Amino acid sequence: MSAAAGPPELPSFRYHPDPVATGAIEQRAVRCRCCGQDRGWVYAVAPYAVEDLRDALCPWCVADGSAAATFDAAFTDLGDEGPNGLPVQVLEEVTRRTPGFSAWQQERWLFHCDDAAAFLGAVGWDELSAHPEAVAAVLLQVAGSGIAGEDAEAFVGSLDVDGASTAYLFRCLHCGAHLAYADADAD
Ligand SMILES: [Zn+2]
Ligand SMILES: [Zn+2]
Repeated sequence: MSAAAGPPELPSFRYHPDPVATGAIEQRAVRCRCCGQDRGWVYAVAPYAVEDLRDALCPWCVADGSAAATFDAAFTDLGDEGPNGLPVQVLEEVTRRTPGFSAWQQERWLFHCDDAAAFLGAVGWDELSAHPEAVAAVLLQVAGSGIAGEDAEAFVGSLDVDGASTAYLFRCLHCGAHLAYADADAD
């Protein structure tokens, strides 16, 4: 993951700070279905909407909420995941003004210090292992599905961006803690 932020002309996303690095936004000539302009960048993840809007929206219409409003779209479906007591503005910013990401299963957003965390990207063991607290979170998650001991260690060790199981890394915007969860191809 590059330390550099996306190109300065792109809108900034508090909860998804480098959407170019994560692949959510790509440099491509596409006429935005929302504003009608070709701004040279496209949102490359399929939003939750009646219409198929993958590769059809510009990052600016994601950032200002106009794409979500126009198409009644959400970029992340929190389902019942949103923690209690969070300001509705935070949940709205995550679901309606922040680029999402694709995961093997229904994606999840992580929260910490009473706020949504920043999504850093899909990672494998090499990157995850640099953050012991994120490794611990994944081990706790797999323990919850009844996998423990050597099996759990084998699972986290097999995590791979391009493999059949992947971790999703976040960082708390307040205390800096790294957070993660993992999922796997259902097959
Ligand atoms: Zn647009
Ligand atoms: Zn925190």
